[in-house]
Amino acid sequence: MTAKAGVIWTTLLILAGIFSLAFIFFTLFPGKVPDAAWQYFTPAEVERARHYQRTMRLVSILAFLAQTTLLVWLVAGARAMGWGDAILHLTGERYYPALIAYFILIWLLLKAVALPFNFYSGFIVQHQWGFSTQSLVSWWMDYLKGSALDLILSGAGVLLLFWATGRWPFTWWGAAGLFLSGWLFVSTFLWPLIVAPLFNRFQPVNEGPVKTMVTQLAGRAGLKVDQILVMDASRRTTKANAYFTGLGTTKRIVLYDTLLDGYPPEEVEAVIAHEMAHWQRGHIVRGLLWGILASFLLLGLLYAVLKLTFTYEIARPGPYAPHLLVAMLLFLQLVSFLGQPAQNAISRRYEIEADRVALELTGNPGAMINLQVNLARKNLSDISPPAFIEWLTYSHPATLERIQAAEKHRTNP
Ligand SMILES: [Zn+2]
Repeated sequence: MTAKAGVIWTTLLILAGIFSLAFIFFTLFPGKVPDAAWQYFTPAEVERARHYQRTMRLVSILAFLAQTTLLVWLVAGARAMGWGDAILHLTGERYYPALIAYFILIWLLLKAVALPFNFYSGFIVQHQWGFSTQSLVSWWMDYLKGSALDLILSGAGVLLLFWATGRWPFTWWGAAGLFLSGWLFVSTFLWPLIVAPLFNRFQPVNEGPVKTMVTQLAGRAGLKVDQILVMDASRRTTKANAYFTGLGTTKRIVLYDTLLDGYPPEEVEAVIAHEMAHWQRGHIVRGLLWGILASFLLLGLLYAVLKLTFTYEIARPGPYAPHLLVAMLLFLQLVSFLGQPAQNAISRRYEIEADRVALELTGNPGAMINLQVNLARKNLSDISPPAFIEWLTYSHPATLERIQAAEKHRTNP
C-alpha cells in the first residue's frame, strides 16, 4: 500500500468513526424540541416517539459498525487475501468458480452479522411497539425472498465487474458506470412489475371518492395519471405511507391500505397531491440522473483508491484477484455512509418541492398539517430530530418543518 492510500483509508475510517459517534451521541441526547411543537403534540407523544426512534437509530448504527468492523478485520489482517488464495487453491485455480465461491462467503458473513440487527428492528421492536402484524414465518419468508434477490443481483454485478477489470484494465470503472446507469433505468422501470409484487398485492383504486379525488387533482396538475394502486401494507404493519415509483409506462402512485383505512379523505388527498407533485416535477428521472453522476464518481474514486492500495497486484494482466472484493466493499460502505448527507439533501429538496406543489394543488394547508400530525403520531416519527441526525439520515424534512411550511402557506398562499 502506498502512503497516499494509507492517508485515504485512515481519513475515511476516522470520518466514519466521527459521524458514528456524533450519531450515537445525538441519539442518546437529542435535546429539546422547539416550543412550536406543543401546539400540535403533547410532551408524552414526543417522548414516546423519541423512545422508539432511539431504539431504531441505535440498531441501525450498530449494524453499520458491525459490518464495517468485519470488513476492516478482513482487509487489515490480510485475512481477505488468505481466504482468496485458499479458495483459488480449492477450485483448482479456476478463476470464476473461485470468484463466485469467495463472493458467496463474504456475502454470507455480512448477512450473518447484520441478521440479528435486522431481526431485532424489523420484527421484535415492531411487535413491541404494536406496529407489526406479521407472523414469524411471514417475516422469514420476506427475509429469504429479499436475500435471494440480493444474492442473485449482487452476484451477477460482481461477476460483471470483475470480468470488466480483466477486459478493460484502466477504464473498467467507466464501463461499469455506463452499465450501472443503464441498469438504474431498467431496474426502476421493472421494479414495480417484478419486485414489488413478490412482496405485496396491488389493486387499482375502486370507483368512489378516492378515484374522483385523483381525477380532479390530476386535471389540476396537468397529468395523465392512470395508475393509482392500493397496496396491502396491513399484512405487515399498521404504519401508513404512500410512494411514487416506476418509469414511463410503469409510473404509478401506490397508497398503503393503512392510509385509506385510517385517515380522513382530505388527508388522503394531501398525500395523493404530494405524490403527484413528485410525478409532475419529474423527481424520479432527476433522482436517476443524480444516481448516474454518483455512480461514475464512486467507481472512478474506487479505481483510484484500488490503484494506490494494490498497485502491483492490479498491474498484473487479467481480472482482479477475488480478495479485492472485500476492499471494494469496504470502500463503498464507507463512502456511501459518508455520502448520505449529499444524497439526503437532494432528496429533502425534492420533498420540500413536492409539499409546496401539493399545497398549490389542494389549496388546503389545514389538511396537510393534520396529515403530518396524524402520521407522526401513528408512525411515531421524531417530529424534530437533532440537526445532525436530520442532516445525515433524513430523506424527508422533519415533521415540524413540514407543518411550519404548510402554516406559512396558510398565512401567505
Ligand atoms: Zn415524497
